Amino acid sequence: LVQQYKQAFAKSQERFEVAKTLFPTGVTHDTRMMEPFPPYVSHAKGAKKWSVEGHELIDYFVGHGSHILGHSAPDVVAAVQEQMTKGTHPGACHDLEIEWATLVKKLIPSAERVRFTGSGTEATMMALRLSRLFTGRSKFLKFQGHFHGWHDYVTVAADPPYDSPAVPGVPDGVAAYCVSIPPNELNRVEETLKADDGIGAVILEPTGGHWGAVPIRGEFLAGLREICTRLGRVLIFDEVITGFRVSPGGAQAFYGVTPDLTPMAKILAGGLPGGCLAGRADILAFIEPRPGKPKMKHPGTYNANPLSASAGVATLKRVATGEPSRVANEMATKLRNDLNVMFAANAWPWLAYGEFSMVRVVPNFTGPRPAVAGVNNGFIPFDNDVNALDGPKNMKQVYALRQGMLLNGIDWWGTAGMTSCEHTAADIAKTVKAMETTIGMLLAEGLA
Ligand code: PMP
Repeated sequence: LVQQYKQAFAKSQERFEVAKTLFPTGVTHDTRMMEPFPPYVSHAKGAKKWSVEGHELIDYFVGHGSHILGHSAPDVVAAVQEQMTKGTHPGACHDLEIEWATLVKKLIPSAERVRFTGSGTEATMMALRLSRLFTGRSKFLKFQGHFHGWHDYVTVAADPPYDSPAVPGVPDGVAAYCVSIPPNELNRVEETLKADDGIGAVILEPTGGHWGAVPIRGEFLAGLREICTRLGRVLIFDEVITGFRVSPGGAQAFYGVTPDLTPMAKILAGGLPGGCLAGRADILAFIEPRPGKPKMKHPGTYNANPLSASAGVATLKRVATGEPSRVANEMATKLRNDLNVMFAANAWPWLAYGEFSMVRVVPNFTGPRPAVAGVNNGFIPFDNDVNALDGPKNMKQVYALRQGMLLNGIDWWGTAGMTSCEHTAADIAKTVKAMETTIGMLLAEGLA
């Protein structure tokens, strides 16, 4: 398998040899790493991208989740090109930022006010700082396995092992502001908040950590809302991935639970860099200078930059129709179902699961399976054993799976993927076939 991959992606390997002399690990984002080397991509369009060797690949990375419209959507490209000629950065207020925020406010239930940032990481950092100012409490509660970017406060308990609060490079004193518990246990949330008066905010990914690796169950969101309101803590839904993807109004609109603050990015800026914090006017008010109140400083060279704004406006206009999330959800549902049917037909103990337009594949899954073959939507296959689910993966197998999928024309994100509204039933059928062939290759090499 590795030899075949090396042969088919020889030009990528050449690039990677150079990249290793430039970048630590040779890549510029941890999850772009793969062995023996990652594929290099020359261009992308719709649901496809092309490697530098010219291989056409159906793409399930979709720009780290930022393309619900697929790559290079014509309306987004036209909007960015037009803005490009008008200037990339006047360093001034402009009409597009108003149009952009108006769309956010229209779509996202919690968005009484909006502040644009450079990234999702900046948006979660802002949410936590504003929560401290609003509540006068410095700590926050997060859930094990939930990812909120890479700033110091949130890197705690994002990945296993969860029992060690130490994060390389993060001062112990900073990490101590984060209290982490497993998700889906409302009693434990209430006990933790009652026991620690210093906790001012609760942050989570509203469809589960790492976009649904361990899905959120039942009434957890509504329960958190009730507890946070009753105990006077700020509830933050990190909708960097789920915003505009799960539904036009994100997970909060879908579940009818409105948080106090919502960090967003990715689809928000239509595939260009950008993020925002949306939320309650009385909390975002701490960005304003007010007599007798502390003011949170918030500069940021690229906040609401016009290029990202132009892509964001074009994207959100289409998102508002409801079609992009509807089609992406439908395609992912089909992919999950058809994969499970294929696994069952081969008597392979693999499982596809996930919700909305997010799909995960678990090799050699031994837990309880869906009651109805092929149907797993809304089905939560796991008890709350976070470690079993999102725990250490067999990386050799993960890389081999990706190599095999690439050889069969699919860029599959390790054990997970996302769809866009450009994915078609034919793409899904090709993907299922590729997975079948790939698992056959893994079995032949003793990797599955
Ligand atoms: N929160 C979540 C849920 C994310 O998935 C990510 C990025 N994958 C972030 C925050 C950080 O966003 P960014 O990469 O734009 O800093």
